[in-house]
Amino acid sequence: MPSVSRRRVLSGAAATLTAAAVAACDPSRRNAPAPTTGTAPRSAAGTDTSSSRGSGPGTGPSAGPRGGPATGATGGPRKADWRALAASLDGDLVSRFAPDYAEVKQLFNTRFDHARPVAVVEAAGPADVSETILFAQRFGLRSRPRAGGHSYVGASTLDDGLVIDVRRMRAIRYDPAGRVATVGAGAQLYAMHAALARHGRSIPTGTCPTVGATGLTLGGGLGIDNRAHGLTCDALTGLTMVTADGTVRRIGPGREGDLWWATRGGGGGNFGVVTSLSYRTHAARPIGVFLVSFRWDQAGAVLRGWAARARSMPRSAWCNLHLEAGADGSTGVRIVGACSEGDQDAQVAAMERAVGLEATSVSTFGKAFMDGVRYFAGGTTSSRQAFVAGSDVVARMSRTLSLRCRASWHVGRRAAGHR
Ligand SMILES: Cc1cc2nc3c(=O)[nH]c(=O)nc-3n(C[C@H](O)[C@H](O)[C@H](O)COP(=O)(O)OP(=O)(O)OC[C@H]3O[C@@H](n4cnc5c(N)ncnc54)[C@H](O)[C@@H]3O)c2cc1C
Repeated sequence: MPSVSRRRVLSGAAATLTAAAVAACDPSRRNAPAPTTGTAPRSAAGTDTSSSRGSGPGTGPSAGPRGGPATGATGGPRKADWRALAASLDGDLVSRFAPDYAEVKQLFNTRFDHARPVAVVEAAGPADVSETILFAQRFGLRSRPRAGGHSYVGASTLDDGLVIDVRRMRAIRYDPAGRVATVGAGAQLYAMHAALARHGRSIPTGTCPTVGATGLTLGGGLGIDNRAHGLTCDALTGLTMVTADGTVRRIGPGREGDLWWATRGGGGGNFGVVTSLSYRTHAARPIGVFLVSFRWDQAGAVLRGWAARARSMPRSAWCNLHLEAGADGSTGVRIVGACSEGDQDAQVAAMERAVGLEATSVSTFGKAFMDGVRYFAGGTTSSRQAFVAGSDVVARMSRTLSLRCRASWHVGRRAAGHR
């Protein structure tokens, strides 16, 4: 198995490159920081057994707890098969005919509302996941797991296949003896922070409150704690996964070595369906926040100075850079940072020295831990929205790269419908 240095990603990515395209939970909040961008998963999970696709209502589940009128099936599961699946589940089978189908199948990004899975299985535990995987394989149906539903590319839904929805598994437990948090695969980031903060603990995550722990972790997990505590996947101490053969596997150090390696930055959940994750925690502390703005015509110099500073700043500090454009035609270059409480003014001074320019505006303040979580999250939840976003990781910011960042920013704006 090749060895990939995550440390290199952490230091080389210059405090996470977010200059090119930023998916904000609420991009209209011009004065609040947008979350760091994460990975765009490559494809569906390893359970995606692409073979005969169902088509039309004939392949739909016909009866189950939340199924609708009976329909026959040609070549796919029959009414009785869907009934048997529904009866075998502790969770629910939501068919195309269920009244809440349209809502249950939604992802965060409204661009994927057109997707029509043949059904969504709301799995209540690993056994439900295993049943569903085997059912899908038996009938040649494709299946995709869905956790927080924030995939940039709609990878957690599909047409005519089965969605394995793990949101029902969202319990969050903390073991004070081992200082380990264990969360159901459907847990969301804000809920995790709120639950762990009660114990004075935290894990390094992204900032968007409704992103799922599973998608975030399997893709790496970028956020304001990365420089001090690593990526989210670095904090993993173990997980439970159902693989394509229907087996429930406990994965961790010394167990299922390849899967253990692959789930810590392997990208996008392609190896099975995760049902729970355990993380090492760190102390939840107050933070200092610094916001530094520059003029748009200084963007190139700011990009290079920011990248240089991010390579040398202490690990207790983090910052990202936003190239912003408002619907009213306004533009802005803004650095958003977090550091140990009390250090924020020193961070601003060091940033201005690195950029070699005086900022047009500066704001610094301290936040108690959960206030900081809410500040960077833009609240405790986030509304669905349509967006186009992408991510890239670069080792060093050169003049050419800073120009490319600006170019991709323009491409992103056009894709999102701006002129
Ligand atoms: C508004 C917004 C803000 C974001 N902010 C950040 C951020 O601050 N930091 C960061 O690193 N990233 C961020 N991201 C990116 C986010 O981490 C990824 O899109 C992540 O994959 C979403 O995970 P999810 O569980 O919410 O999504 P889902 O769409 O449910 O899943 C994402 C992928 O994981 C697979 N998957 C889902 N559940 C399982 C499972 N149980 N087992 C195996 N595979 C599974 C899906 O099939 C899909 O391929 C953000 C995204 C958005 C939309």
